[in-house]
Amino acid sequence: MVLYSPGRTSSYPKEVVKEGLRFHYLGGGNEVGNVGCILEDATGTRLLLDYGLAPTDPPRYPNEAPKVTDCIITHSHIDHLGMAPWLASHHSTRLHGTALTGEIARPMWNDCYKVSRIEGYPLSWDKRDIDEAVDLWQSHGFDEKITFHNWKWRLLPAGHIPGAAMVNIETPTHRILFTGDFDTRDSGLVNGAEPVKCDILFIEGTYGGRSHPPKQHEQQRFLDRVSEVVGRGGTCLVPAFANGRTQDVLILLHQSGLNLNVHIDGMGKFLAKLYLEHPEYLRSSDDLEAALAWAKKVSSKSDRKKALDADVIITTSGMLDGGPSIWYVNRLRDNPENAILLTGYQARGSGGRKLLDQGKLPIFGTDTQIDLEVDQFTFSTHSGHDEILNFAQQCEAKHVVIYHADPVQARPHLVVALEAQGHTVHCPINGESYTIVD
Ligand SMILES: [Zn+2]
Ligand SMILES: [Zn+2]
Repeated sequence: MVLYSPGRTSSYPKEVVKEGLRFHYLGGGNEVGNVGCILEDATGTRLLLDYGLAPTDPPRYPNEAPKVTDCIITHSHIDHLGMAPWLASHHSTRLHGTALTGEIARPMWNDCYKVSRIEGYPLSWDKRDIDEAVDLWQSHGFDEKITFHNWKWRLLPAGHIPGAAMVNIETPTHRILFTGDFDTRDSGLVNGAEPVKCDILFIEGTYGGRSHPPKQHEQQRFLDRVSEVVGRGGTCLVPAFANGRTQDVLILLHQSGLNLNVHIDGMGKFLAKLYLEHPEYLRSSDDLEAALAWAKKVSSKSDRKKALDADVIITTSGMLDGGPSIWYVNRLRDNPENAILLTGYQARGSGGRKLLDQGKLPIFGTDTQIDLEVDQFTFSTHSGHDEILNFAQQCEAKHVVIYHADPVQARPHLVVALEAQGHTVHCPINGESYTIVD
């Protein structure tokens, strides 16, 4: 199915930029995920930053991109690169990012394609377009300086997940920092992002208005819960996102010193191996390698049956939307000694959200009552409200553009706090253009 007819349906204006920097969100301006942002200046130099989709139910897609020769992908989550195959096949756009992001991109696109078939939602690109996107990928190390017409740009570590980058751009008029998804706090996998002096800061505001509980506190709460369930003879099912969360939770369990029998299933085990091929993006490849060697990898049907006797099963999907996690819930649900420990945000319309709100989960098409204990933990690798404010202050940003934020729940809190710090704050709406001159 074709959602766009190339070049006909784009919201991007035809007018040239007269002065300063123009920014235009195709998506992700006033929502979480679905990111695509075009920067252009008066010399006609134009870059697209990210081109993703939001894998919600139903999914959301950004507006159609105009012709762009180059797009920088901040990281390998689908809400930042899900639409890149369309770009590649329709505009032959060169895709730039770190080597690890490039490596993970293909399995993420393959998975996105597979899910779209299973769920029956439309996708504007085809499997063949993935090959084109892979061919057009250009890898860059952190801090490698790239000249693009009269701009210079480089990638910097963003924390968040291995390979994730912030984009630092110098135009003739402005110093720009675009955070992508970022976290200034260290995680088991990566070190936190460092601030950079800039004139315009484009900052993700997912956690606007919300402060994270102290990390160690939340980790201990999780480990206590695991001990309790295992102590009474139960199995903990830990649904986790494949790209980042699975490996973070695995390292935490391994380093806890608890005597546990942990099984890992789903795409996360494959991505962990890809991470290990690029140790330069990890805080400690030894930690991940040891944790991975310690866990039992599920790779067959008989492995999966054996995993039912494990202490902990870490598996996709993180929101209990398909993947092995549903198979496990179905097998584990009759024994009240077992428990489900959610490790991430559960989006509206997801299985995990339904489980939390109604105690039910769609299993193979039937809403099923789940009487197991369910607990949720905040293992976010996005900066919280306080980290966002500190970061903007340390960047000494004159202008702050808040994107990748809920426009009602999250963004207003950040606007108030950032203005109080003296920044000029911008709240973009998808499909609108804004120009910063000073
Ligand atoms: Zn995101
Ligand atoms: Zn992300």
